[in-house]
Amino acid sequence: MKEWEKYLERAMACQTALTLFEWDNETLAPEEAGSWTARVQGTLSEMYQEVMTDPRLTELIEEAEKEELTDVQRAVIREAKEEIRKLSCIPPEEYRAFQELSAESTRVWAKARESQDFEAFAPILEKIISCQKCFAACQAREGQKLYDVMLDNYEKGFDMEKLDEFFGMLKEELVPFLHQVRESRVRISDEFLKGDYPEEKQRELAEYVAEYMGFDFHKGVLAVSAHPFTTNLHNHDVRITTHYSDRMDSSLFSVIHECGHALYEMGIGDELTQTLAGQGASMGMHESQSRFFENIIGRKEAFWIPLYSRVKEIFPEQLKGVGREMFVKAINKVEPGLIRTEADELTYSLHVMIRYELEKLLIEEDLDVRELPQLWADKYEEYLGVRPTTVAEGVLQDIHWAQGSFGYFPSYALGSAFGAQMYEYMKGQMDFDSLLARGEIGVIREYLREHIHRYGKCRTSREILKEMTGEDFNPACYVRYLKEKYGKLYQI
Ligand code: ZN
Repeated sequence: MKEWEKYLERAMACQTALTLFEWDNETLAPEEAGSWTARVQGTLSEMYQEVMTDPRLTELIEEAEKEELTDVQRAVIREAKEEIRKLSCIPPEEYRAFQELSAESTRVWAKARESQDFEAFAPILEKIISCQKCFAACQAREGQKLYDVMLDNYEKGFDMEKLDEFFGMLKEELVPFLHQVRESRVRISDEFLKGDYPEEKQRELAEYVAEYMGFDFHKGVLAVSAHPFTTNLHNHDVRITTHYSDRMDSSLFSVIHECGHALYEMGIGDELTQTLAGQGASMGMHESQSRFFENIIGRKEAFWIPLYSRVKEIFPEQLKGVGREMFVKAINKVEPGLIRTEADELTYSLHVMIRYELEKLLIEEDLDVRELPQLWADKYEEYLGVRPTTVAEGVLQDIHWAQGSFGYFPSYALGSAFGAQMYEYMKGQMDFDSLLARGEIGVIREYLREHIHRYGKCRTSREILKEMTGEDFNPACYVRYLKEKYGKLYQI
């Protein structure tokens, strides 16, 4: 092992420990652990930053670049340089101060949401925004806009110019299309999805479906948390969570979604384990995999052909008289709502579009945060035809802004669009319906592993798309996919 690799191994050890604490905080940690663990986390972050910004590491990397490198080493060095650049332009004390501010801010946000009081959150949100702008200004390349810097942190190669084009297309095509869906005379009933669904039975189904999809329980676990998420220490330790409620589809599709994330991480090549390139390519590419399994595959009738009899066995009373066709219609029902995380496949990206438009205003146009609740409500009314009456179901629903994650939201919508582009191409390579009907989901999963998962961060999302489908990002595939699917379902 080279000396620079030893440095990075130490940095990765800090990262792995930090990730494990995050997981623990969300799942099993006792209440009183909080502030003590936070100190350990603070120390570990500092240690990580120290290793990464050690001038000796930069020297070693510069020397290494003159030698012959493997593809993996090249990718790791590229990631390391990027990370060093970002870490070194923010002074450590400011970095730590921001960590504290954002911890405080998420607490204030949670309280404000509970008491329906946006005014209580506004002052700290202003501070968070000005900090984020400061950090972005430190990181910006010459002439680069601040919001572009933030976007680039989550999705390389996507700036406002590209995203304006993407969301512009969604607005032009999907908003009027949604209107047609709402006018449609087709009525879909889904009330049987809600009811007396015991938690242990839901868990049985979740494990069954996860295993069927290829989630390897020797390398992963399934736990419970308030909001479902995926954590990966590396490709041999991938953890997913779900939550159980009286709507069986809520947990079921959370598990399928998180399994999509997990299959991506588990599919990363062993040569990348515990390196800086050993995670998914980007936020958007990650969402492309989770949403591919959740929506494109998981809401297809063919997916349920080999599974539905087991679903009925687990819930014989709850699903009495509900045939497979009726079940599949119900899980595809379109119903514009106020909450992003509960949105159906068609309206989901419109929720994201609203956040993108508002972030642009906040970062680039210095919008007064006090105007947010009104603007938020107006946009929901205009695009989705629904209007929040409280801030909890409006502007205070997501934690992202409280944490300072500006530029994060667009990757959710991009992921859906990446997935649709892959699907359009893959349909020419394989017959999805008959593979799924025969229970051969493994063929699809292996194809994705071969073209996406195994590379980890060695390729960017745009490179992956181009090498896989032969073309750069093309948002038209997404619009075509949605219009075809929901046009058929709602007879438009
Ligand atoms: Zn996700």
